[in-house]
Amino acid sequence: MKSFAIGEESPAKEPAEELREAEEPEEQLPDLPLIVETRTDVGRVRASNQDTLIEGERLWGVADGMGGHNGGETASKGARDALIEALRDLEPSPEALRAGIEEANARLFQQQKEDASLAGMGTTLTALWLSDHFVYIGHVGDSRAYLVRDGRMRQMTSDHSLVAELFRMGQLTREQAANHPMRNVITRAVGTEAGIEADLIVEERRKGDLWLVCSDGLYGMVEDDRIEAALTAHTPAKAADLLMDMALKAGGRDNVSLVVLLDREGGQ
Ligand code: CA
Repeated sequence: MKSFAIGEESPAKEPAEELREAEEPEEQLPDLPLIVETRTDVGRVRASNQDTLIEGERLWGVADGMGGHNGGETASKGARDALIEALRDLEPSPEALRAGIEEANARLFQQQKEDASLAGMGTTLTALWLSDHFVYIGHVGDSRAYLVRDGRMRQMTSDHSLVAELFRMGQLTREQAANHPMRNVITRAVGTEAGIEADLIVEERRKGDLWLVCSDGLYGMVEDDRIEAALTAHTPAKAADLLMDMALKAGGRDNVSLVVLLDREGGQ
């Protein structure tokens, strides 16, 4: 089930059972300004992993591909490669990030026009690009970026999905949205049309910020309050393992990808 966090406070809840082992000694954190942990897994049901992790220069994110045959993988890997290439050696800025996503879109769109076997392919893309003082978030589709600051988790992106839009318009309740048969339908994707409108979000960096970027294979299986509890109780490496484990134990119905980033130098 998807969990919809739009505009709603998480109710206070007992931490889930698997989180009660926080007393175990934690491993020491390496002495690095940024600690980044990435995980991806095919899950327990799907035959292939169409998610792709994005790991570039001060750039991290996920792309969740869709499309028959090899379309999904081609789209998510193609978007990753195009974005990393477009941003290489550039000074981070929202304009450059937007242009990079437009470049990725144009390339995938062209590719599927030339190869009928890729028709219909597309991908979500949610990426964080860090300058010295800011985090620029580029976002298309229903992958998500969350920020944990001062012990509280906020969803920083809005899902571009049919059910999220119906929910925002008040036409579906949270529960209807979570169980809707069309909950996998996204309303914006990279590569499906000639033009693209990416969301660009800018957030000041603060020391201690903890970021999570994930595909719907995580937040669709694990409720936000359990995600928040895992992130706040553990080191990034352990939290990443735990989140993956929770998504798989909950059924792993989709590919699961996640990036956990601890910013230990923000605000300088
Ligand atoms: Ca997915």
